[in-house]
Amino acid sequence: MPHLCSFVIPAYNEEGNVKAIYQVIHEAFDPKGIPVELVMVNDGSKDRTPAVLKELYEETGGKDLTVVNFSRNFGKEAAILCGLRHAKGDYVCLIDADLQQSPEIAYQMYEKLENEPDTDCVAAFQEVRHEGVILKFFKDSFYRIINRMSSITFMPGASDFRMCRRNMIDAILDLPEYHRFSKGIFSWVGFNTAFIPYEAAERNSGSSKWSFIKLFNYAIDGIVGYSTAPLRFASVLGGILTAGSLLFLLVLLILSFIPGVNTSFRETLIGVILFAAGLQLIAAGILGEYLSRVYIQVKQRPVYIEKEVLERKDDAC
Ligand code: UDP
Ligand code: MG
Repeated sequence: MPHLCSFVIPAYNEEGNVKAIYQVIHEAFDPKGIPVELVMVNDGSKDRTPAVLKELYEETGGKDLTVVNFSRNFGKEAAILCGLRHAKGDYVCLIDADLQQSPEIAYQMYEKLENEPDTDCVAAFQEVRHEGVILKFFKDSFYRIINRMSSITFMPGASDFRMCRRNMIDAILDLPEYHRFSKGIFSWVGFNTAFIPYEAAERNSGSSKWSFIKLFNYAIDGIVGYSTAPLRFASVLGGILTAGSLLFLLVLLILSFIPGVNTSFRETLIGVILFAAGLQLIAAGILGEYLSRVYIQVKQRPVYIEKEVLERKDDAC
């Protein structure tokens, strides 16, 4: 029996795409005899997306199709989470509604999961990105910074377009955090992820929902969500300032014993002010250390994830 494959499709203002994606996914999987289900999450679209989805639901009789309409726009991450919660498949594939990501690649992912039992997830990454120089610079810098600051690894160019086994999806659903950053969550839960290259096609209809500001905020979400290093910044700066000003005051003290050398009150005052400022920063850094622990605790992530357990057997001899 082939495995059921769920497609989780976030859709925001995709009236021209939702029927097309339903069709192309069926065209790619039906001839191979692979059962699919689509979970379409309308993320508070302002166009006719909900009406078109309703039409599609009625035309198909709800076969292979779950539609969820959000009460307003909650963002792609929220739509993904909702889709994952509704998906019933043994394999779950995240795919955009705009047909930039080809179901043929999704089929390659399916085959890889079928043939490689050790692979838990197959993610697509864009080998060639058709982006402006500035955007590319910012994206590359983001990966450099986050990989240095975080204990988990972020693969540059990896997209949300991926197919994972049920055990990995359940692990992702076990993360109850509010601020969700999928790229980080996929890495954080572990498991074996294989990467396959793909080239994003042109959007079928409509326009991209990501402005530079949205991308920038997304990058900040990633850094804040997966690193507490910024909280250490105050203590590092405080340490440098305190040590520097102490050295400065020490030099002033030594100079004051040398006959003929005049050390002014003003220099001493500057030294003392810098020393006090350094101590305050160290104190802020100490608060940061406690805050980072509180922050990690309130996320309520599991302490570990069990991928497999080989249970003790009572009747074994
Ligand atoms: N999307 C969403 N909510 C949003 C923004 C986007 O559900 O607030 C969906 C969108 O409909 C699409 C996917 O997320 O299916 C990717 O968005 P888009 O194609 O605009 O991103 P790009 O391909 O330009 O990175
Ligand atoms: Mg797109």
